[in-house]
Amino acid sequence: MYNHPCREVIDDLKAAGASWIQFDEPTLVKDLESHQLEAFTKAYAELESSLSGLNVLIETYFADVPAEAFKTLTALKGVSAFGFDLVRGTKTLDLIKGGFPSGKYLFAGLVDGRNIWSNDLASSLSILQTLEGIVGKDKLVVSTSSSLLHTAVDLINETKLDAEIKSWLAFAAQKVVEVNALAKALAGHKDEAFFSANAEAQASRKSSPRVTNKAVQKAAAALKGSDHRRATNVSARLDAQQKKLNLPILPTTTIGSFPQTIELRRVRREYKAKKISEEEYVNAIKEEISKVIKIQEELDIDVLVHGEPERNDMVEYFGEQLSGFAFTANGWVQSYGSRCVKPPIIYGDVSRPKPMTVFWSTAAQSMTKRPMKGMLTGPVTILNWSFVRNDQPRFETCYQIALAIKDEVEDLEKAGITVIQIDEAALREGLPLRKSEHAFYLDWAVHSFRITNVGVHDTTQIHTHMCYSNFNDIIHSIIDMDADVITIENSRSDEKLLSVFREGVKYGAGIGPGVYDIHSPRIPSTEEIADRITKMLAVLETNILWVNPDCGLKTRKYAEVKPALQNMVAAAKQLRTQLASAK
Ligand code: GLN
Ligand code: ZN
Repeated sequence: MYNHPCREVIDDLKAAGASWIQFDEPTLVKDLESHQLEAFTKAYAELESSLSGLNVLIETYFADVPAEAFKTLTALKGVSAFGFDLVRGTKTLDLIKGGFPSGKYLFAGLVDGRNIWSNDLASSLSILQTLEGIVGKDKLVVSTSSSLLHTAVDLINETKLDAEIKSWLAFAAQKVVEVNALAKALAGHKDEAFFSANAEAQASRKSSPRVTNKAVQKAAAALKGSDHRRATNVSARLDAQQKKLNLPILPTTTIGSFPQTIELRRVRREYKAKKISEEEYVNAIKEEISKVIKIQEELDIDVLVHGEPERNDMVEYFGEQLSGFAFTANGWVQSYGSRCVKPPIIYGDVSRPKPMTVFWSTAAQSMTKRPMKGMLTGPVTILNWSFVRNDQPRFETCYQIALAIKDEVEDLEKAGITVIQIDEAALREGLPLRKSEHAFYLDWAVHSFRITNVGVHDTTQIHTHMCYSNFNDIIHSIIDMDADVITIENSRSDEKLLSVFREGVKYGAGIGPGVYDIHSPRIPSTEEIADRITKMLAVLETNILWVNPDCGLKTRKYAEVKPALQNMVAAAKQLRTQLASAK
């Protein structure tokens, strides 16, 4: 028998006195093939002897377990307990009702580990009572739906949050209390006061006038089932835009933000703390914008950006100006590695009381003759990077945000902004784990994006930007977004993106696969960038290719950004000359 690396760990844990061991197997919620399920069974069979004498729990989470996998999982020998996410796994309950191995423990994940809403205790208790009827009194364990890594830590740290909204929330520390209260209630020791306070909070959330905006709900509901596309096709639109913009081939641009200096952060902080006046703040930001514009003009970039100096974060900046959003002071969660984010909380119907970016974009446009890109965050990204309501489907919230962004797009256009970028950095990231759910998500996500710009003239050029690799499997949805130009991360994924065009996917809109990686301080040479562009030209038409970095420049220093962009523009010019002489 080969030496399973887990065996050693299990032996060590046993020796240290462990009586329970949990194995996290969230992969079971994905669409595993039968040979993968067989391998799963085999792997645990290998461990069976080591596990004897221990209680073994296998945890699954983030979605329901498909029927086949459920069968495989619950048939495992030597395992004493199975855990399921009963919040996201809406079908799991039926599977358990359909049959659960006798004598085994069920860990019922009823308290949402991925959101910040307080649990509906009465409803959870009634589900638990049903489950108890199936698995038996001493075999049911109350649990969170997943680890608590994805929620904020403790509501006690939120001293500034509105009291009514606060009563609707439960962070990790409160969720543990909920789990405990449910378990006690199930055992016949119900804390009546705790349960009735909870019921009151649930009811207040349902009836609070600040959650509901009838006009917004009606407008969002009217979008369902329709299509929303700009009337003219993309190549005709690009022609109309080119007449107005008169750009060279291989036009150059950047993704939006310029370096966020310590000085900039200080200005924003002091303005927020009311230490400097609005006038001082506006002047400081305008000065920064003018500096950023001068740099871009000197570099000879074709389509400029204002640099986003007024924004703390691409979601928070918009959330703060939209109705229906609340913000925590300390609600940090880990996003990846050492990075943390503080997602806004969407608690009510979303609307836009007034323009959010028009002031800064028009100020920036007045400082240059070159086209200035208006810069917005798209509805899907705002949704995916927030804590979202659990009292209505995600797509409904997304449609509401889309309508708010649509108002902003149209106001920018009216104010004379002819190029508008709507970032959908996180569109790919929101793709559900199960393949069977992809089409539905992509459909409403792409629809939401189109809603934002369906009302603009042909001559207004709509850009979008997407981060992260692995776009190939959703390329048709990206095309279906019907943006005029898309800038897309490319260099970190070894240019895998280009392979999809090599394989013959037809793409007629403008496209700027990033020519260098902004996540690294390394300055790419002109030759290296020219080489990248040449590779792109082998698979994409000359007249649709844009030249731009992979993503925004906010985390970089000017000492890196200036020479990198200089080389980028030099490479674009070099290729323009080559292409002209080749004619
Ligand atoms: N416009 C944003 C920026 O440049 C986009 C950031 C992102 O894609 N994450 O910072
Ligand atoms: Zn990006």
